[in-house]
Amino acid sequence: MSKKGWIVILLIVVIAAGWGIGKYTAPSAAPDSGASASQAPQLEDGQAPADPAQGGGTVDVPSPEASQPAESAASPEETPQPSTEPSEAPAAAPGGGGAVETAAEPDSLTVLVNKQYKLPDNYKPEDLVYPDVPFIFSEKIEKRMMRETAAHALEELFAAAKQDGVNLAGVSAYRSQSTQTVLFNNYVKRDGEEKARTYSAVPGHSEHQTGLAIDVSGSDGKCAAESCFAGTKEAEWLAQHVQEHGFIIRFLEGKESITGYKYEPWHIRYVGKEIAEEVMSKGITLEEYYDAIPVSN
Ligand SMILES: [Zn+2]
Repeated sequence: MSKKGWIVILLIVVIAAGWGIGKYTAPSAAPDSGASASQAPQLEDGQAPADPAQGGGTVDVPSPEASQPAESAASPEETPQPSTEPSEAPAAAPGGGGAVETAAEPDSLTVLVNKQYKLPDNYKPEDLVYPDVPFIFSEKIEKRMMRETAAHALEELFAAAKQDGVNLAGVSAYRSQSTQTVLFNNYVKRDGEEKARTYSAVPGHSEHQTGLAIDVSGSDGKCAAESCFAGTKEAEWLAQHVQEHGFIIRFLEGKESITGYKYEPWHIRYVGKEIAEEVMSKGITLEEYYDAIPVSN
């Protein structure tokens, strides 16, 4: 073979060897955070992989966008659930010129909170306790709490239901203004403020912040805070008996223009037996009881 031929073969060998070494050493360029047997480099949240070019550029490193953050499914309770109460939506946008007023006695067990009457900024009841009733989740967290009087009434209510063969469970009770603010801001980011207001209460205007309201479902959690709860045996039982324990169905069917909210057979509000009996027997809203209408426009 000619000298030229040998040089060509030598060049090919050198190039091939170089390529092979590059390929062989490539894995060392992967981030060493994983250090395990896993094949794909494990990336921390949004972290860029260690310089992939160092390995000769042949490493197939996933882009940060394509990788799933390893801790994305932390505790579901740490991130607000946007769909807690999708149908707790105002029937009409608030506004229409009605001035917002602040409830004068936010600690009253009969306080009126709605689109027109808000709670004082960052109001938090001082007597929140954990009612001894089952919830559809097991964590001992904020949304399990209610004001003491309402909590005891709820225990009575659940016990009475159980005697009638109806097993109830709590879905969501107290909600702080900061929780509501985080929720509401997330909705605004996602859908814009105008739309967000159609399905989420403006912070300070949620009855859940009083510690006197709770969403209730059957113990199986089916249709929890959803319109398909209407007509269930749990919903029927609640409609017949809540007032015996000082609660009302707060957002009645056909009263949307007064309450500003759709029918919510699961949302019950403690007001005490006297008012509850009157409101429920007359089939009226708390707004009508207080002669404080209209609120939704
Ligand atoms: Zn509710």
